[in-house]
Amino acid sequence: MGFVSLIGAGPGDPGLVTVRALEKLRTCEAVVHDRLIPYQLLDEVPAGAERIDVGKHPGKAKVPQEKIQEILIAKAREGKRVVRLKGGDPGIFGRVGEEIEALQDAGIPFEVVPGVTAGIAAAAAAGIPLTHRDIASSVTFVTGHEDPEREDSHLDWGEMARAGTLVFYMIGKHLPDIGERLIESGRPEATPALIVREASYPTQSIALTTLAELRDNPEVFQPGYPAVLVVGEVATMRSHVQNSLPLRDKLFVLTHPAEADDPLQTRLSQWGAGVLLCPSIRIDPVEESTDLIKKLTHMEDYDWVLFTSKNAVRAVREIFQELGWDIRRFGNVKIAAVGQATSRLLEDWGIVPDLVPENFTAEDLFRQLESEGEVEGRSFLFPCSKIARETLAKSILAGGGDFDRVTAYRTVAIEEPWHPDIPLSELSIDGICFTSSSTVRGFRARIGSEAFQVLANSTPMYSIGPKTSQTLAEIGARDIRESEVSDLEGLSDYIRRTQSEPGT
Ligand code: SAH
Repeated sequence: MGFVSLIGAGPGDPGLVTVRALEKLRTCEAVVHDRLIPYQLLDEVPAGAERIDVGKHPGKAKVPQEKIQEILIAKAREGKRVVRLKGGDPGIFGRVGEEIEALQDAGIPFEVVPGVTAGIAAAAAAGIPLTHRDIASSVTFVTGHEDPEREDSHLDWGEMARAGTLVFYMIGKHLPDIGERLIESGRPEATPALIVREASYPTQSIALTTLAELRDNPEVFQPGYPAVLVVGEVATMRSHVQNSLPLRDKLFVLTHPAEADDPLQTRLSQWGAGVLLCPSIRIDPVEESTDLIKKLTHMEDYDWVLFTSKNAVRAVREIFQELGWDIRRFGNVKIAAVGQATSRLLEDWGIVPDLVPENFTAEDLFRQLESEGEVEGRSFLFPCSKIARETLAKSILAGGGDFDRVTAYRTVAIEEPWHPDIPLSELSIDGICFTSSSTVRGFRARIGSEAFQVLANSTPMYSIGPKTSQTLAEIGARDIRESEVSDLEGLSDYIRRTQSEPGT
């Protein structure tokens, strides 16, 4: 007999899922999921596990609740560890009650793993409490979906008008009715109301209004996106800490393959910005590494190895591992690193670079080598991507050095078109960040040249350095903003400085 875990996936940000839920996802044999879940969580599911999408997709018929229950029972009877993954908490407007009953009737063992429900996530996103010792002693979760004209309404509007904080889910087109009902039942017209759309997603947005405003102005909210409404005095307590985040309410798109500890992504989020990821390139190993191996085997032929990216360090390290070498193999060869991240990765490997240029460009690397008399008569090994630029080679050869370039990794364009949940044209984007010419071309290819042109006319394009800016200019970007320091830290500092100064 199998087992069913009824799991809350949290409100959207994959970081808000519980450790227990992750454990269950990583060990399940079948996952039955809704639509409104952080899709990144599905990456945690083992490759061999069965994935069944029972979510309601626009334009498609809904999978009936009974059918979902049948699937859960059938999969458990196959002896599988089944995860039923639901948005938020499974016990809040999640129909988990029916699923529990069905499993119980079928004699199938199950557990419930709670999740962060949308209302709680919305309050956290807005920086407000849902209860407060002086203002609200209770909080009520309410469905906004019920027809307010219904004679046999389950909702007691009079009671709600007297209650503490109210959190409405599934508000759709019902905001005017909710406002009207609460006012009619005695809640003051000026009662603050907060609409939190897509809480915890990068595209999250928050609007403060009043009950009267809700009643009289249906325009305050566009239906079609998940949102909750928080009614009560607590809504005015938007935190000063959150208010002071320098990039609050800003939205950026990243086009490079950001890893978990990516400095640009982490810092922009820390400073309060929303970050949408549209990776447009991928780093792959070279198809044939014999050339790289041959050159590394003759390390003593070189005076310097030049690393200008983390990818190069990784590729070389992998070869070392494959061949069972350690860092002693570098012998007396000197090592240069361009960029803080490259240098840090070398340090993790036990290597303190002999040279890290102050600015993080290849040009600066050359200047520094030259000023130390380390070009003429010296021999350089340069592990790089297949499409690396020739500037460094040219300068070193011209300066009387010997330059050996070897392909260590490939930069591959990601071809699938990119469709964010909300169309790009409806988002107000404060900047798109490019970290190389290949990200510029890749992003344009992913979103299509027409959509790119629209963005290129008005949206700030942040560039990591001169070469990237040149590529942006060539394909018609108008508002190009170039970081003075060419690495991810430098670019994020630059964005922060220019975006938080009024008028820039
Ligand atoms: N079980 C879920 C709720 C499912 S009902 C939970 O505990 O959160 C679906 C409703 O949840 C949506 O209509 C919307 O009101 C709310 N919702 C879900 N995700 C949301 C989000 N990220 N931001 C705001 N509201 C959200």
